[in-house]
Amino acid sequence: MIRGNDPILLTPGPLTTSLATKQAMLRDWGSWDAAFNAITGSLCEDLVRIVHGEGTHVCVPMQGSGTFSVEAAIANVVPRDGKVLVPQNGAYCQRILKICKAIGRACVELPIPEDQPASAAAIEAALAADPSITHVAQVHCETGAGVLNPLPEIAQLCARLGKGLIVDAMSSFGAIEIDARTMPFDALVAATGKCIEGVPGMGFVLVRKDVLEASQGNSHSLALDLYDQYVYMRKTTQWRFTPPTHVVAAFRAALDQYLAEGGQAVRGERYRRNCAALIDGMRELGFRPFLRPEVQAPIIVTFHAPDDPRYDFKTFYAKVRERGYILYPGKLTQVETFRVGCIGAIDDNEMRNVVSAIWLTLREMGIDMAAQLAKAA
Ligand SMILES: *Cc1c(COP(=O)(O)O)cnc(C)c1O
Repeated sequence: MIRGNDPILLTPGPLTTSLATKQAMLRDWGSWDAAFNAITGSLCEDLVRIVHGEGTHVCVPMQGSGTFSVEAAIANVVPRDGKVLVPQNGAYCQRILKICKAIGRACVELPIPEDQPASAAAIEAALAADPSITHVAQVHCETGAGVLNPLPEIAQLCARLGKGLIVDAMSSFGAIEIDARTMPFDALVAATGKCIEGVPGMGFVLVRKDVLEASQGNSHSLALDLYDQYVYMRKTTQWRFTPPTHVVAAFRAALDQYLAEGGQAVRGERYRRNCAALIDGMRELGFRPFLRPEVQAPIIVTFHAPDDPRYDFKTFYAKVRERGYILYPGKLTQVETFRVGCIGAIDDNEMRNVVSAIWLTLREMGIDMAAQLAKAA
């Protein structure tokens, strides 16, 4: 995996991309050129196929970062008089609540500790307690701490109770199995710069065709109106407003590599190997993961910071970066942590190398990990 001298991004988007993906951006495209619009069309078909949504779901791409597409999905799928239940175990769930408030959709929070997954039973109880709830908005992998939420059970529950389901699958799509036939959803949102390993700049919503077709007039927004984007694209094959052409071209290249690698099962397996190599190596240094292994998604790992007065994240980050790796600050409110992503065009050797870089950094900072090991034992 070629990279030159740039640091490796161990952040869950933007992430380290392959040379072929970067090279796909060395060309300018016209936004109404047929060759460019054919790329958009082929991407949409492939993305629907990844979740086995052929015939039931369509893909609507949207300019912007992933959050733009989450907001677009909620705005179109939830009618203005709808009400959204948000099982909340981290930063991205909190963002959904914020979106609902910003765009004027009634919402109910179901609080869950940030080291625990959501459960279908708790969601069922919350729905029973408030029958006016029309939709559930579920984050699949909560990238805040790295928890995998049980989408299959939650999707089954929503289908059984006739509730709409919107899934933020931003950090799981392409790596963790999602099957629209057995995990029914109204809309599922992801973006280019995550597990498909493209560059950031566009999101997409895989949405049930009948739900989308009934969503005209729901959106509060012109720019984020999925229905409008879809209708215009169907009519003209073009994007409604200027598309992120280089991002789209790079995404086509990334998706070609994804399919050639073997698709979701193989991508997921590589990330699981990355995650295992990282956790094993970090444990040997004396670090403790924040999550229990049963709830840990192979996407991003949260570690407790060393309990040592000489530790501070800024210095630690800067010194690990000098050694070629970009880490991520923690996103938890209660405990001091940092995070390391497992996704991107990297393999388990890279994870062992970052563990070495962290070990050298700790030594340089004079942090006694033997004491951490003794404490953990
Ligand atoms: C990355 C991510 C998003 C989108 O974040 P942006 O900064 O808007 O790209 C949303 N949800 C989850 C779970 C994510 O991991």
